[in-house]
Parts: sequence; structure tokens; C-alpha cells
Amino acid sequence: MTVSTRVDLALLGIRGTPPVHRTGGAGPTDDGHVLIDGLPAAIPRNPDSPFVFDGDRVLYDGADVGVEVRGIGRPRFYDLTTADGVGYEKIARLHGRDVLATTVVQTCVRYGEDQRCRFCSIEESLRAGSTVAVKKPDQLAEVARAAVDLDGVRQMVMTTGTSNGRDRGARHLARCVRAVKAAVPELPIQVQCEPPADLSVIQELRDAGADAIGIHVESLDDGVRRRWMPGKATVSLDEYRSAWAEAVRVFGRNQVSTYLLVGLGEDADEMITGARELADMGVYPFIVPFRPHAGTLAVDVDRASAPDAAVVEKVTREVASHLRLVGMAGTEQRAGCAACGACSMLQTAGA
Ligand code: SF4
Repeated sequence: MTVSTRVDLALLGIRGTPPVHRTGGAGPTDDGHVLIDGLPAAIPRNPDSPFVFDGDRVLYDGADVGVEVRGIGRPRFYDLTTADGVGYEKIARLHGRDVLATTVVQTCVRYGEDQRCRFCSIEESLRAGSTVAVKKPDQLAEVARAAVDLDGVRQMVMTTGTSNGRDRGARHLARCVRAVKAAVPELPIQVQCEPPADLSVIQELRDAGADAIGIHVESLDDGVRRRWMPGKATVSLDEYRSAWAEAVRVFGRNQVSTYLLVGLGEDADEMITGARELADMGVYPFIVPFRPHAGTLAVDVDRASAPDAAVVEKVTREVASHLRLVGMAGTEQRAGCAACGACSMLQTAGA
């Protein structure tokens, strides 16, 4: 499949509901998970899209667009319940083909209307009753064991809403990693959090057994950060750089990543330059188009729309070309979003 078709699918979405999908939550959500030409893809569900998913093909105005699409079956672990009565599906979800993903704390200290990231809906899935506020380490261990045994899950992503503490939520992540590794030692885990004010927590996460880490900045432009992420923008880019450097020291080159969202207004060339610098310091810049969906301030208040396809394609291609040049592939990360790749077009572009 060409990069431009993959970009069109990511921006226009599909009509239809694949069996594995998400509504609300942290990061880019409201999508269906499918395999496109064998690669995992998280595609927005859009009732107005010209692309229709009919179960194993994508049609455009009734015509086959020539990409092989496979739905991902509902995982068996979704039908189980913990001893204390919580459905496994509320504790962790299947992403892509084989990623178990969870938000260990589903609330965020930055979720006040004047502070929250305008693209985020982390607390909406909690309000809808589709998840629980805090996932206990032993619950995660139980679900992870079942997801590996019943559904062939091969890696795990643990993210968290930000807490008030100096660790910004990382210590609960460390407890969860420790419990999952005790139950499923073979399962690689990526943790995701804001830069902890106390950088020694990064070593604690590694010591707990985390294999990779995502420290997500979303934009390298301070003006964009203040507009889109007023709460997170109070953590300076210098603090991000220090945390990335420490994370590369602890986890190793290409085991650290960050999201960069295309479509928030950052100059494309500046984003490409920043992404190259990140790659040169060992941090994989995970290029993802901004995805408008209901339940976020971006859509409900700002009426924001998806970015221009040509810009997404240009940033994706140029960053992918630099990643190839410096020998960094998402699939070489032990776990995490870059290893999965479903929310980005970088793997289609060869990175
Ligand atoms: S890239 Fe990350 S958020 Fe997207 S489907 Fe994969 S694991 Fe989930």
C-alpha cells in the first residue's frame, strides 16, 4: 500500500465497526483496529468516510481500493472477570494485533477544562463506565497472563494520567510493571508518563522490569504546547530533553520514544528538524496525525478538523527517511507504540 493511501485512511477513517475498537481514553482513540497489508492499523471510525470496511476489504465508492484488510477478532480474555468482579476488558484492552494496553490511572491532575490537553478524553471512558479509575497491579498481572495465554498477546503498553506527585504517576506504573513481570516474565512492557520531576524514577521503572519508555511531548513548539496542552506545557521542553537523555542512558538508544502530533499548527519543517534531533539523541519520534473525536475540547469546543493529508505525508516520509539513515526502526523497540505502529504511518514508510 502506498503511504498516501495509508494517510488517507488515517485521516478520513472508515465506515463500519471492526470487532476490536476503542471509544474515548488516553491519546488517539475512537478507532477500529485492523491489519492492512499485514501491518496493524488503528483507523478512526467515521460514519461520513468515503471508505467502507466490509469485513475484509476497504471499498471507496463501492470499488475495492486494492489493500488487503483483515479485522482483528474480539479477544477471548474480554469475556473473563476478576475474582472481585471486574471485567478484564475494563482493566486492559487489545490494541492492534497483539498489544495489551492499559491506562493504570484513568484520571489526570490536568483534566480541568483550562488545563487539559485539548485532544485527550482520558476521563470520558471512566465516566462511560467502560473502565475503572485505578488498575491494581495484581489485576493487571491476572489479565496479562490470560491475554498472553488465550490471545497470543506479545507486548504490553502501560500509560497513566498524571498525578500530583513528583513522580507524576511513574511509581504506580513501576508497581504495575513489577506485578505483571512476576506473572508473565516473557512479556515486554513499555511504560508511558510525563517527565518525572525526580529523574531517578526512570531507573526505578527500568529496575521494575520495564523494557521501553515513552515520554510524550506531542509538539516541540512552545506556542502550540501552551494552546493545546496548557497543563502539560508547564513542564518545559528542557525538562523533556533531560528526561529523554536520562531515559536513553537507562533504557538504551531506540528504546525511548515520544509522540509528535501533526495538525496542531506546528510548522512542518520545524517538526521534521526537531524529529531528526530526537532521533539523533536515540529517541524515536512517533509521528501521528491529530485525530479529532467527540468528547475532546478540540472537537466539542474548537471544532478542530483533521490535518492536511499532504502535510502528514511529507512529515511522515521525511522523518522515516532520517530514521532509516540512522538505523532506527519502530519494530526494533522491545515494546510500545513505535513497536506496534498502528497509530502512525511510519512503518508503511519503511521506519
Ligand atoms: S500505536 Fe500505541 S496507542 Fe496506537 S494502537 Fe498501537 S499501542 Fe495502541
